[in-house]
Amino acid sequence: MTQPTTWVDGAAGSLYDADNLPYGVFSHGDEPPRVGVRIGEHVLDLAPVAASEMLEVAHLFEAPELNPFLATGRGTWESVRSWVTGLVTDEAERAIVEPSLIPVAEVEMLLPVAVADYVDFYCSLEHATNVGKMFRPDAEPLLPNWRHLPVGYHGRAGTVVVSGTDVHRPRGQRKAPDETTPSYGPSGRLDIEAELGFVVGVPSSLGEAVDVGGFADHVFGVVALNDWSARDIQSWEYVPLGPFLGKSFATSVSAWVTPLQALQAARTDLPGQDPEPLEYLRVGPGAGLDIDFEIELNGQTVARPPYSSMYWAPAQMLAHLTVNGASLRTGDLFASGTVSGGRRDQRGSFLELSWGGAEPFSVRGEERSFLQDADTVTIRATAPGANGGRLGLGEVTGTILPPR
Ligand code: MN
Repeated sequence: MTQPTTWVDGAAGSLYDADNLPYGVFSHGDEPPRVGVRIGEHVLDLAPVAASEMLEVAHLFEAPELNPFLATGRGTWESVRSWVTGLVTDEAERAIVEPSLIPVAEVEMLLPVAVADYVDFYCSLEHATNVGKMFRPDAEPLLPNWRHLPVGYHGRAGTVVVSGTDVHRPRGQRKAPDETTPSYGPSGRLDIEAELGFVVGVPSSLGEAVDVGGFADHVFGVVALNDWSARDIQSWEYVPLGPFLGKSFATSVSAWVTPLQALQAARTDLPGQDPEPLEYLRVGPGAGLDIDFEIELNGQTVARPPYSSMYWAPAQMLAHLTVNGASLRTGDLFASGTVSGGRRDQRGSFLELSWGGAEPFSVRGEERSFLQDADTVTIRATAPGANGGRLGLGEVTGTILPPR
């Protein structure tokens, strides 16, 4: 479906054309934070426009988080998207809308969602295989459950931060395999994980499983996500209960939440599942997503992981997450796990790019493996849009500061 052309200067043909329209929360000067939609290099301030048109939903956009809007459900998500599309494409709306367009450079973007529960999965076959080889060199890289269920763990919702937030190098307990006793101190193997995050809008009841068909009724949209990881802390602590303090110090997300409705042209088939999963995890064609990631370290691109290579589909993650009756809350966030493709330049973590530090990669003429203080990492994601161009899924950036 081709979208009509936008009248907003510079937006047509950009990563934020009228076929994208992601939502975020911004603050502008001394005004209270509220909900905006990105179009080109502007934020459309929805609250005053909705109020002037006396829309019932106007109050949803005065909130300092997307949660009230997310909770309304698919019908409202769709009608608001149609309304916003009309605002930015219909010349007749221009006089009303133009005063509410604020340049992106003039606003501060805030965490878009008050995150309820946070889950991180492990859905890339290549990533799981690479990590298995490094963490358990003498065993099968994939554990027996991996091809039967999307493996995940519950993370720390309270430390999810918006893109641009600095990250202090964490301290913790670690023990290298060749050391006899553990020690305490700053992580020496600080890493990133390029991931896609899924934002839940509509809650479910305790005891109710959300099946694979319920994905688009519950999940509003996606964010680009960086699961900062302290590998030395992680590899010592993770047995047998999984990741803990090596992950929980910070998780960064893009300021913009791209609605699923914008990602129709990005739907693609999964690469293939063998063996066929249990009935509750079975999905049809178009369950995957064709999204391209780019990882930049200090301004240089170091990898381009393809989301289309992911083994488990987002609908399978949600079905598995709720199959025991665990309920969803508005603002729940679940992430895909590191996106890694089959080639070296498609690996979504520095652990894999440098093979545990054994094969450093070159950045601006320097040999690099794990993160150094003052390093800046930026992860960008783009997807095919309805107009035949690309959609920007925002970027997620962060700079490493010394430990506190
Ligand atoms: Mn992760």
